[in-house]
Amino acid sequence: MSRIVYADNAATTRVSEQVLESMLPFYREVYGNPSSLYTLGQQAKAPLEEAREKVAKCLGARPNEIYFTSCGTESDNWAIKGVARALKGKGKNHIITSKFEHHAVLHTCEALEKEGFQVTYLDVYENGLVRPEDVETAITENTALVTIMYANNEIGTIQPIPEIGEICKKHGVLFHTDAVQAVGNVEINVKDQNIDLLSLSGHKIHAPKGVGALYVRTGVPLQNFIDGGAQERARRGGTENVAEIVGLATAMELACADIPGRIQRLSAMRDKLIHEVLKVDRARLNGDPIRRLPGNASFCFQGVEGESLLLLLDLKGISASSGSACTSGSLDPSHVLLSIGLPHEVAHGSLRLSLGDENTMEDVDYIIETLPGIIERLRSMSPLWDAIQTGKVSYDKYFTERKAPHTNRFLAVEH
Ligand code: PLP
Repeated sequence: MSRIVYADNAATTRVSEQVLESMLPFYREVYGNPSSLYTLGQQAKAPLEEAREKVAKCLGARPNEIYFTSCGTESDNWAIKGVARALKGKGKNHIITSKFEHHAVLHTCEALEKEGFQVTYLDVYENGLVRPEDVETAITENTALVTIMYANNEIGTIQPIPEIGEICKKHGVLFHTDAVQAVGNVEINVKDQNIDLLSLSGHKIHAPKGVGALYVRTGVPLQNFIDGGAQERARRGGTENVAEIVGLATAMELACADIPGRIQRLSAMRDKLIHEVLKVDRARLNGDPIRRLPGNASFCFQGVEGESLLLLLDLKGISASSGSACTSGSLDPSHVLLSIGLPHEVAHGSLRLSLGDENTMEDVDYIIETLPGIIERLRSMSPLWDAIQTGKVSYDKYFTERKAPHTNRFLAVEH
């Protein structure tokens, strides 16, 4: 194997040196319980509160509006179930979300449907964007919450969050956003953008797995998530994971220190990747070409099976992901790709390359050199590709717009 290229930063990231260093004292030296009154406990309490301040600062929030959790999934569950259950007694039993949310949101909404809530799942159209006017149309007098992700984890599209926030505010409806993929990649200010609740996760930004946070605007009605001790202002009991919380805060601070720089660095690599990969015959880019995360490049290739593509890329040292088969072992294509109108046969040939802080232009060049040969090899063994070649089936209508022209149009990044 000549080279290792990790191009799956949307799945997780490596803990950075600075993050690790900031965490280490809390395992062996400052190991007290932050709830203990003696010195060793208080030595752990102060960094915990400093971490809260750092996370709050990155979001434009107040420290007492930040709650630490165990992951993005927990934050999503807490935000959605917590608001829904708190407002049900007031006759608010309706939730609005989109069809292509992460399962942390979709399965939470489905669980609430079983409790008697009504959920509207909005379309995201061919470009993978929720339309603010659809949100407005869906709001009723019973709507408790709108939950729309900040950026999609598979196709990277960045949603019109400030516009949706404005609409929710106008109608007096609470607004939650799953910003797990957006934090550090997009400038976020919860006050300016009218966000009432926001979920984030550490492991997408070079902090460890198993730590996250939920921003809850002061005054938002929210049921407690874990009953127990007085931690997290008695709303989420359990002794705090001080080391990881400190790691999360360090990562947030680093990620938020230079968002324009990251956008520039990552989008330069992404745009080259997109430009070159779209030269492959019958390849398409998934999701809006402009409103997308700086590191996200999501493709479909006709006549290629995503899982096999991943295995062959792995043999060449490239870690990537595909939306074609989900982790449950089912062969159903990704709900995200289906939500943007792709047929199963096209969605099965998907590839997500997600670049991060540790990637270089050489990594991109290596992917560009390696990928076309693998696609050719897979197509040479594919009965579907034969059928496409001989005109027995055609998926070209899903490929025309996204394929041409090969220009620098991806170089403009708007957020
Ligand atoms: N939401 C989005 C958009 C994600 O991409 C992920 C992780 O992939 C999650 C939620 C879940 O986060 P965690 O892995 O911290 O539970």
